[in-house]
Amino acid sequence: MSINTINKVELGVFPTPIHKLARLSAHLGGPQIYIKRDDLTGLALGGNKTRKLEYLLADAVAQGCDCVITAGAAQSNHCRQTAAGAAKLGLGCHLVLGGQAPNMANGNLLLDALFGAHIHWSGEKRKGEDIPKLVNELLSQGKKPYVVPYGGSNTIGAIGFIQAYSELMSQCESSHETLDFSDIVFASSSGATHCGLVLGQHIHKGKSNIIGINIDKDEMGKDSYKCQLQALIEQSAHTLAIDYQGSIDELHLIDDYIGQGYGVVGELEREAIALCAQYEGILLDPVYTGRAMGGLIDMIRRKQFSAHSNVLFWHTGGAPAVFAYASALQNV
Ligand SMILES: *Cc1c(COP(=O)(O)O)cnc(C)c1O
Repeated sequence: MSINTINKVELGVFPTPIHKLARLSAHLGGPQIYIKRDDLTGLALGGNKTRKLEYLLADAVAQGCDCVITAGAAQSNHCRQTAAGAAKLGLGCHLVLGGQAPNMANGNLLLDALFGAHIHWSGEKRKGEDIPKLVNELLSQGKKPYVVPYGGSNTIGAIGFIQAYSELMSQCESSHETLDFSDIVFASSSGATHCGLVLGQHIHKGKSNIIGINIDKDEMGKDSYKCQLQALIEQSAHTLAIDYQGSIDELHLIDDYIGQGYGVVGELEREAIALCAQYEGILLDPVYTGRAMGGLIDMIRRKQFSAHSNVLFWHTGGAPAVFAYASALQNV
């Protein structure tokens, strides 16, 4: 497989802009912070999954599938973007969501329904454990389902972020003040974003530190996500014939900001959301970007970046979840 010959459908608007966060940077008194606006990818209120889905849904169409299945939490941004992409391409969409049906759908879940997705509630299991059963049901009904992995994270999804790194390089080269980022910071959770940026940087011989802020607890033991991420990178490099030899010890995955666990909003997220909103007019989300920006702000306060450097925060989307977290975000 070669990256440039892989099928793609256009679902978003690229390149996404890069903005300087002048007021927030001045407030924090550290490095100059820039932001890559993947909250503006253009598909159904945006987000990083659009990049992966351009390749994953193209694969579904190429395989002649008539519906897609994916999984996530009730407020999954991935599921919302998958539902929208499937609608655009005329594919059925089945979402296996953790938890139970609420009395009233809000945020991403409300949007899933507007895009016509079929929702299957799976209780405690929010990572697609029930997908094989659903595949069999759909096959027995004569359907041809395509399974989009949890978070859209496999080699095909990662291609979207290898290309995203190339997009960033073109923007840096063509900007009037040549941009050079010492660090690229983002929320890391199912892995294709992190994997794509690591491999993209390897291909372009870039020098930035690629720093993922881990969002979710390691439920399968210490470093289980890091091992899974390294495996995805190695698998993708192999499949795409990229000569990458990096070891797991070279990955920057920060585990310090998981707080009370996935989707639990604390003071870290509340402050980051409030600062970005009030200094920059930019919305972060309570689960991913609020936590990742909270981590970045903490690292800046701990003087982990040179005051002369440029740090890029990669906004991965998620703002529709804000409404579903209204009670946690009162009076920030
Ligand atoms: C899915 C998601 C992420 C994490 O990206 P992965 O590629 O799954 O690691 C980060 N931010 C938001 C808003 C997301 O929806």
